[in-house]
Formats: sequence, structure tokens, C-alpha cells
Amino acid sequence: MEGQRTPIESGCPDGFQYMHPTMRKNYGNWAYHEDPRPGVLKHVSWSGDAIYTVRAGTQRILDVFTLRKLCDIGDKYAEGYVRFTIRSNIEYMVADGSKVEPLIEALEKEGFVVGGTKNSVAMISHTQGWLHCDIPGTDASGVVKSMMDELIEEFKNWNMPNRVHITTSCCQINCGGQGDIAINIQHTKPPKINHDLVANICERPSVVARCPVAAIRPALVNGKPSLEVDEKKCICCGACYPPCTPMQINDPENTKLAIWVGGNHSNARGKPTFQKLVAAGIPNNPPRWPEATAIVKKILTTYKENARDWERLNDWIERIGWPRFFELTELPFTKFHVDNWRGARRTLNASTHIRF
Ligand code: SF4
Ligand code: SF4
Repeated sequence: MEGQRTPIESGCPDGFQYMHPTMRKNYGNWAYHEDPRPGVLKHVSWSGDAIYTVRAGTQRILDVFTLRKLCDIGDKYAEGYVRFTIRSNIEYMVADGSKVEPLIEALEKEGFVVGGTKNSVAMISHTQGWLHCDIPGTDASGVVKSMMDELIEEFKNWNMPNRVHITTSCCQINCGGQGDIAINIQHTKPPKINHDLVANICERPSVVARCPVAAIRPALVNGKPSLEVDEKKCICCGACYPPCTPMQINDPENTKLAIWVGGNHSNARGKPTFQKLVAAGIPNNPPRWPEATAIVKKILTTYKENARDWERLNDWIERIGWPRFFELTELPFTKFHVDNWRGARRTLNASTHIRF
């Protein structure tokens, strides 16, 4: 329309312009792939072309100096093409197989770790945490760094019965939180309301509508329009906090971590599976989160020692049963593991919507 402002395009740019030429040429024409060594994939096309991918872990939130270093390595030792995976790995693509080993050496010399393919523990996928988001109750990158420091051998080697995907989630309601092992925030107290601020900051009807259990009501407090929470109904989900920051729910003492296991998307062989809570009330303890890390390591060691080849974590638990899982991992089974909230059948926990 005449005079109308041109829309500003946003979103993902066209990926083809950044693809390695061999990938572009063979798009949709790949015959098979092999795993020559941990951290390296070899894809072979029906045309006979092959391309190698070398994967190294990064901290996801990269400073410009590290990014430049990674790009310089790509220009010097690879063929100038890289991509980032959803699990914060950088991948270099090379058509010339003789470049693979020098590229790995260059990456390792600069302190990067190559791995994360096949039956290893892949890089933990994480959300934003304190650096970017406005509602986190813990850090995400920090938890990942602390845990991956302890799991470095599992990232670099093919030690596990099958691949292991771990996720973190720094609030209880939004991104993240579905994997073989998920480390999620768990609020244990209802929000504390600052009544002086609610009327100025919050759109009260939308806050009331946000609550999944209808625990929030409009109220007049000290003559000012505000909100009140029926604490008996509140499930401490934190959903009211993003649209209304005066409903503060994060708390150094009462915001905890919880660990869930066994989530998996459907694939050619199996249906999607829900993750289940196995440890709750774990201290949210920066900067190294030792308690949560110890539990994750214990689950992984037990899985490694007991599962059969190719069993994913959920397959293994299904075979041995949940009571045996708790016995082997020595995690206490408490009343908090029983989901006795009847409303959950209709609303929460009843869909297989994809999250990563
Ligand atoms: S998980 Fe929650 S707190 Fe963390 S980045 Fe996503 S929305 Fe923000
Ligand atoms: S924390 Fe969740 S359940 Fe509790 S009042 Fe807020 S939105 Fe409702």
C-alpha cells in the first residue's frame, strides 16, 4: 500500500547462504553417516561426496574474543564454515578428511573440548539464566559449566550405553526442561506481593488469568488496587511473576533445584516419554552447585554401569522399574514424588508438547 512502511524483517536468515558448498550441493541427497571418532561425524552423499563435521563444546554465551578465536581456527584449519547447535556446540565442516586431525589439535590447544556425539553425554542444553532473562531463579550457564567440568570425560568419550541429553531450566514455566536428565528450578513458597507497586506496574486481569489454578484475585490493599493469592491453592509455579514483578517468587532460601529423568521425544522406535521427578529440594547453590552435580553424576554412573547397550535412560528405567531405579541410585523416595494434584489430569503434565 502506498506510504506504508516497509516491514522490518527479523527471525532466522536463510541458512543456505552460510552452508559449506558440499552441503549445499548435496542437500537432501545424503546416503549415510559414520562416526570415525568421538566428536566427528562423516556424512556421505549418494553422489560420493563426503563431509566431516568436528564438534566442540562452547559456553554458549560467548565473548567476542572467544568467538574471534573460534572463527580464526575455522579459517586456518577448517574451510571457513561453521554452525552452532542448539546445545551450544560449534561445528566445523570440512570436505577434506586430512584436515580433521589438525583441526582437533588446534581446538584442543586453545582449550576447547571436542566430543558430544553418539553415545556420549552431549553438551547440556541451557536457557538464558541471569545474564539475559528477567525471571530466572538460578543461573543456567553457570550450572552447565559446573556440571560439564565434572562430566568432561563423558563428553569426550563414547562411554555411555546410548546418548544422554541433559537440560537446565532457570524458571519453572518457560523454556528448557525436557531431557534424559533435566535440572529445573523449583519454587517452594508462594509469591510475596509488594502492594505499593502492583497498581503502577501490573495489568491485573492478565496476572489473574495467568494463574493455572485460579489462586489470584484482585484486592484492595491499603486503599490501593492490588492482588491477593490464595496460598492453599498456589502451586508455586511462578507464572505470575513475569507479568507482575511485584509478585516476587525468587528467594535464595526457598527457591530450589529439582531433577527429573526419562524424558524423550518420539522416534522411529518409541513413543514420547514424560520425565519424572527423582530429586527435589536440592540447594540452589552457586557458583558450583555441588549438590545438584553430585546427584546428576550418581544417576549417570548408575545408568552407565547397569543399562544395556543402546538403552536410553528412560528405556533402562522402564526395564528395571522405578523402585529399582531409586534403590540403585540411592535417591530417597519421598511424598513429593507423588503427584496427587487431581487437576493435573486435565491441565498440567498432560500433554507431550515438545520442549528441548
Ligand atoms: S527458563 Fe525461564 S528464566 Fe530461564 S531463560 Fe527461559 S524464561 Fe528465562
Ligand atoms: S505462583 Fe503460580 S500458582 Fe501461585 S499464584 Fe502465581 S501463578 Fe498462581
